Amino acid sequence: MVAIRTSTKGTWEAAGDSAGSMTIIRDGAELRACVQAWKSEGLRVALVPTMGAIHQGHISLVQAAHERSDRIIASLFVNPKQFGPSEDVETYPMDEVNDTRLLSGAGVHVVYAPSFKAMYPDGFVTTVSLSDITAPLCGEFRDGHFAGVTTVVAKLLLQAAPDVAVFGEKDYQQLLVIRRMVKDLDIPSEILGSPTVRENDGLAMSSRNAYLSAEERAIAPALYQTLLAVADQVASGTESIDNACRAARESLQAAGFGDIDYIDVRDAQSLGPAGPGRSARVFGAAWLGKARLIDNLPVPE
Ligand code: AMP
Repeated sequence: MVAIRTSTKGTWEAAGDSAGSMTIIRDGAELRACVQAWKSEGLRVALVPTMGAIHQGHISLVQAAHERSDRIIASLFVNPKQFGPSEDVETYPMDEVNDTRLLSGAGVHVVYAPSFKAMYPDGFVTTVSLSDITAPLCGEFRDGHFAGVTTVVAKLLLQAAPDVAVFGEKDYQQLLVIRRMVKDLDIPSEILGSPTVRENDGLAMSSRNAYLSAEERAIAPALYQTLLAVADQVASGTESIDNACRAARESLQAAGFGDIDYIDVRDAQSLGPAGPGRSARVFGAAWLGKARLIDNLPVPE
């Protein structure tokens, strides 16, 4: 049995002190004070940012954090700034009670769950945005998405000042964008990428999988299978990457997917065009009913 308590100002001193206890903090200044207290004891601190609807993919990030730190903060914040006007912020799945239970079971010491007002007080006008690496793939289809992500992640990194922050390779472009931002802004946190956790049939775990009907859920693994097929063709030296991607789009459409935002093969570091002798990844984003599914995998070398 794990004790979960909500911090009233000052009780954060106890966060993580007794085995199995977890504290919920809602205020950035309080989080900073908690982390300072940990650091003064020489403890290493990890941050795992999430938008909640916790699943095994998120838990794997917490497990990776355990290997690198003594204290773990997981944030729960559905960030409206990273959703477009026609996207699903209103319907995004939310269940703080269940999320905190799962995170505390995974050994998280603090859940940081600020309100919108706490994160973006009246008068907030700052945006952190990157060029170049945010332009292709999801950047082409989700206007303003990455600026919303980098703004909130910059704030989380400043508030939590973690030694390490863990992000999933499931959102590979996001991982590269955050690495770039941290480098460009001299933010002193290590950014750790963690492998994608999949269902048994290959579907990448995602909070948005909850939108899928039973029929769509049966079709959904086709995205992973299709990306695997493209990766194999590229690895075996296909004459045309474009043709491989075109065939992949056709096969997804035949499987029952709706709009296909992209199927693309890109350089794994720069997201520029893939070239010989450099590591490459296959990326895909496609709609299935109300869910926009994304996935990516490495081209075997
Ligand atoms: P989200 O709550 O969807 O914003 O995701 C929070 C973090 O969990 C991000 O770093 C994601 O890349 C990561 N994540 C989401 N799904 C998975 C997954 N299936 N495997 C590994 N990491 C994931």
